[in-house]
Amino acid sequence: MKKQLHFLCLLLLSGFINLAQAQTKPDYSKVTLVIHGGAGTITRENMTPEKEKAYREVLNEALQTGYAVLKKGGTSLDAVEATIHVMEDSPLFNAGKGAVFTNEGKNEMDAAIMDGKTLNAGAVASITTIKNPISAARAVMEQSEHVMMIGSGAEKFAREKGLKIVDPSYFYTETRYQQLQNIKGKEETQLDHSSNGTSNNENIFIEGKKFGTVGAVALDAYGNLAAATSTGGMTNKRYGRVGDVPIIGAGTYADNNTCAVSATGHGEYFIRSVVGHDIAALMDYKGYSVKKAADEVVMKKLVERKGEGGVIALDRKGNFTMTFNSAGMYRGYIKEGKSDVLIYKE
Ligand code: ASP
Repeated sequence: MKKQLHFLCLLLLSGFINLAQAQTKPDYSKVTLVIHGGAGTITRENMTPEKEKAYREVLNEALQTGYAVLKKGGTSLDAVEATIHVMEDSPLFNAGKGAVFTNEGKNEMDAAIMDGKTLNAGAVASITTIKNPISAARAVMEQSEHVMMIGSGAEKFAREKGLKIVDPSYFYTETRYQQLQNIKGKEETQLDHSSNGTSNNENIFIEGKKFGTVGAVALDAYGNLAAATSTGGMTNKRYGRVGDVPIIGAGTYADNNTCAVSATGHGEYFIRSVVGHDIAALMDYKGYSVKKAADEVVMKKLVERKGEGGVIALDRKGNFTMTFNSAGMYRGYIKEGKSDVLIYKE
């Protein structure tokens, strides 16, 4: 009898061990990475073949970089960070090198990252010397007890943590500088011809309505989601202005129970509509699919409120959506060997 009991115990124990192993065994079939490189009035008419090729190349490189991390068994956090680095280092996007200029002629950047497994999050805002703002956001998440750090404090922290610090001139690109000059010129004209005052004030800092923020959402082989977003904000923004990107729940959000979201668009509207969390809440409380939830928020609520832009959102099963209410959005995905990069409303 005693022997039988002993055997039964061993059997049960091995069952538990097998179950635990099955739960932690990586599942590479669902590994997914989705990215965006900004939304806005991106149309075929405004594009040259050379420019389109250049954008596609960097977007593909970003996808391949992040996917390689996931395929090697890296976490979704590692993947989104590596993906964002590629776009931050490219002058084509409004993040890191190539960030837009503020009204005062500076490059002030915001970034955020969130871990869907733990709900930990990190963000930085109004930084001018950290080469890769997304890594500073991750350092805040993992190496401090805080969620958001701003300005010179965030820069001091990043330096202490050994992140790469550059002279602010590193972020300068002639194209972005000219965009500031153009919009400053337009601002005068618009105000001069203003017949309905306030709406002009709302739009004076939208350069041709292109939002070049970069974002990534990923699902790793362990079933964990992560989201990351990085931006220079909006051309001609006022001193100290912070957009939706580093606001957890607005431009960046991730929760394994619902989805990972990264947004791009006119930040003020995305903050007021708490876009990222609203999408997750619709999935949580109403049982919406990730696509239905994003449609509700981006194509209905934001449209009614005149908030232009879009999101990428991904759930734990690998379902995703790239939803935008603007003319175009640089975007792409990669999963199970399938990959695509898109720009226009197709
Ligand atoms: N959402 C960003 C901001 O308002 C801009 C963008 O998406 O490019 O700062």
